Amino acid sequence: MVNKIIVAIDGYSSCGKSTIAKALARHAGYTYVDTGAMYRTIALYMLRHQIDDEAAIIAALPKIQVGFIQADGAQHATLNGEDVESQIRTLEVGNRASEISQIREVRAFLVAQQQAMGEAKGIVMDGRDIGTVVFPNAELKLFLTASPEVRAQRRYDELVEKGETPNYEAVLADVNERDYRDTHRAESPLRQAEDAIVVDNSHLSREEQMNVIYGLFDKAVNH
Ligand code: C5P
Repeated sequence: MVNKIIVAIDGYSSCGKSTIAKALARHAGYTYVDTGAMYRTIALYMLRHQIDDEAAIIAALPKIQVGFIQADGAQHATLNGEDVESQIRTLEVGNRASEISQIREVRAFLVAQQQAMGEAKGIVMDGRDIGTVVFPNAELKLFLTASPEVRAQRRYDELVEKGETPNYEAVLADVNERDYRDTHRAESPLRQAEDAIVVDNSHLSREEQMNVIYGLFDKAVNH
C-alpha cells in the first residue's frame, strides 16, 4: 500500500502557497485544504453582519459552518452552504481575516476542523500555522517565501486580472502590513517550523519550483 502523508505548507501572503498546494494535491491524488479561505469565510460572515466586537465574534462562531465544494472544476469555499468563493477574495475580506485570525477562539474553532480533515492523511493543507500548530507531526513541511516586492507584484497582477484598478504602492503597503500582523500576533504567529524546508520562489519559475517540491514529496512518501 502506498504510504499517505500530510503535507503542511506555510508562508507569507501572496507567495503562491495555494497554487503550489493545489498542484501538489493533484500530483499526489490528495485532498487540498485552503485554511486561509476558512478564515476569510468567517471574516465575510462578520462583515455581512457588522460584527466587530471580539465577544460578539466569539458568540457568533457556532452559527457558522465553513465548508468546501467542487464547482467549475475548482474548490470553492462555502458559508452555511452558500458558495462564497468570489466574495472572500477581496482585499477587504483578506484584511478582516487577518484581524479576526488573531482571536484565540476563532483559531481554536478552525484548527479543530482542520485536524479532523487530516485524520485520514492524504492531505495538502496551506496556511500560516499548519506545520507548527495544526499538524506538528506532518511528514512534509514546506515554508514558502518570496520578497515583499515580488509578492506585491503578483497580488497586483491578480487584482488587475479580476478587473480591479489597484495602486502598486498601496498593494505593497498592504503586503507589508499583513506580514507584520501575521508574524507579530500573540496567537500562533506565522513562523517557520524547525523541521520545515524553506523554498524561496522569488526567482524560480513555476515549473522549477514544482520540480523541487515534487522531489521533496516523493522523498517524504518513500521515507
Ligand atoms: O492565505 P490567505 O491570504 O487567504 O489568508 C487570509 C488571512 O487569514 C491571513 O492574512 C492570515 O492572517 C489568516 N490565516 C491564519 N492562519 C491560517 C491561514 C490564514 O491566520 N492558517
